[in-house]
Amino acid sequence: MNHRPFEDWLLNEQQLTPAEKRDLDAHLRTCKYCTALTETGLELRSVRKVSPAPGFTARFQQRLATRRIAERRRRLWGLIVLLLGGGGLLLWLTAPLLLALFRSPAQWLTIAIGYVLFIVSSVQTLADVALVFLRVVPGFIPPYVWMVIVSALAGLGLLWTVSIWRFSRFPRIPQQHSS
Ligand SMILES: [Zn+2]
Repeated sequence: MNHRPFEDWLLNEQQLTPAEKRDLDAHLRTCKYCTALTETGLELRSVRKVSPAPGFTARFQQRLATRRIAERRRRLWGLIVLLLGGGGLLLWLTAPLLLALFRSPAQWLTIAIGYVLFIVSSVQTLADVALVFLRVVPGFIPPYVWMVIVSALAGLGLLWTVSIWRFSRFPRIPQQHSS
């Protein structure tokens, strides 16, 4: 069946003359294809005529904004939960370390006090030794005696250094000896 020119008329929604309209009606009565085309065209036209309800765009945008805010809030909550969870996990993982850190100051304080006392006593001993030297040895000491004194002091310093090293290495030894 030849649908020309009716098909073009329907597709282009042409304004038809009364004669053309009569021809089209005659063709539509016999042609299902063009009838379907007409109905489709009518439906399309009706869809095109339906304009958005007044305020629809505004409502749509408002809904979009609301959804965006909700999404942002949800993301914020997610971040908070993530941070709290991560912090909690970190705290849980580092709890032993933190506890050790909290416990260690007392230990370190004990060590530090013992160290200071040791230094003070050592300095006092050295001062005593120096005083004894100054008292016993007059000002006219020959150079070789000075050399002996210096080497003695050097030996004492070495001994002191070793003592400090041992003290800092084994801070509990004095306590263990007292028992
Ligand atoms: Zn037709």
